[in-house]
Amino acid sequence: MFDTFTSQSIPILFFYKNSDKMTRKRKILLIYTGGTIGMVKDYKTNTLKAFDFSQILDKIPELNQLDCQIRSVSFENPIDSSNMNTRYYVQIAEIIENNYDDFDGFVVLTGSDTMSYTSSTISFMLEHLKKPVIFTGSQLPIGYLRTDAKENLITSIEIASAYKDDKPIVSEVCLYFEYKLYRANRTTKLSAEQFEAFASMNYPPLAESGVHLNFHDDLLVSPTGNSQLIVRKNLCSDIVVLKLFPGISLTFVSSVLNTKNLKGVILETYGAGNAPDDSRFIKLLKATIEKGIHIVNVTQCAGGSVLLGHYETSSQLKKIGIIDAKDMTTESAVAKLMYLLGIGIQKEEFVMLYEQSLRGEMSNIK
Ligand code: ASP
Repeated sequence: MFDTFTSQSIPILFFYKNSDKMTRKRKILLIYTGGTIGMVKDYKTNTLKAFDFSQILDKIPELNQLDCQIRSVSFENPIDSSNMNTRYYVQIAEIIENNYDDFDGFVVLTGSDTMSYTSSTISFMLEHLKKPVIFTGSQLPIGYLRTDAKENLITSIEIASAYKDDKPIVSEVCLYFEYKLYRANRTTKLSAEQFEAFASMNYPPLAESGVHLNFHDDLLVSPTGNSQLIVRKNLCSDIVVLKLFPGISLTFVSSVLNTKNLKGVILETYGAGNAPDDSRFIKLLKATIEKGIHIVNVTQCAGGSVLLGHYETSSQLKKIGIIDAKDMTTESAVAKLMYLLGIGIQKEEFVMLYEQSLRGEMSNIK
């Protein structure tokens, strides 16, 4: 195992409920991990830091008006999402697993900086999910006058509690931000400034919030079968993202690819999956793949897809057996690599599963 940023153990506190009456209203579990939404200014250092959850809920008395029962759970020490790691992923997944039968939907509050990574990974960890899991947060803390937190939180709860004919309208892991609901594993954080911080370049929004909350039913995942929820908690972090740039040195590439215990590489290529065709570079990649290390080709472009063999500069990559991530985001490609490596499957099956859509994370591109 590589050394990773470790987390302390996180005791969990329950401390908010908007109603004591056991009615037949939908039950929503709000999971607070940290992020700007609950941050306060430290006037000594002039920085924003994670605070506790109670002040969030005090700031939104409107939650009492929602037609659902809300319970909440919080990390005892909320984090800035820059400190997110695989242990926290497991914590989030376990909270959902332990409360899965008792709640109709889940809203997870995290910082936006790594929200696409976290929500993508949770989408893979939760197999046979049949209930809504909505990630949200905000660009401004909830206590600020111009905050975007209220709308994001209130609408996320509405989405998580939206049922039709006793079935959830959404039954997948999503990310809601600034009036749009996205499939989480299709998103990327694009702006540190705009309230519209996220984009899903290769898949349209699943719902839009205006005067009405409009769901695009044809775009949503529809769960089939009666399989029970399975939560995969074994994630492999022995991976690296290697971003190409003109002038990248072979010595540097070689040293990265020869890292001890390396199991997988996300190779961020140009355009439609293109890379230098220098034979020394191709040889390095080939030798790495022959050692049993998976190399995945993901485009650096925010939109569009890898098209292996479309240009001469990607045909070599195809020949040496690079894995085709098609139109997946880097965030989702990292998540899928951690998840599939964690399951421990043979190479052929690994490649076959990686190159097909498991949770709607890639389009059907030939
Ligand atoms: N640094 C913050 C975080 O990701 C930013 C945010 O919440 O939007 O935790």
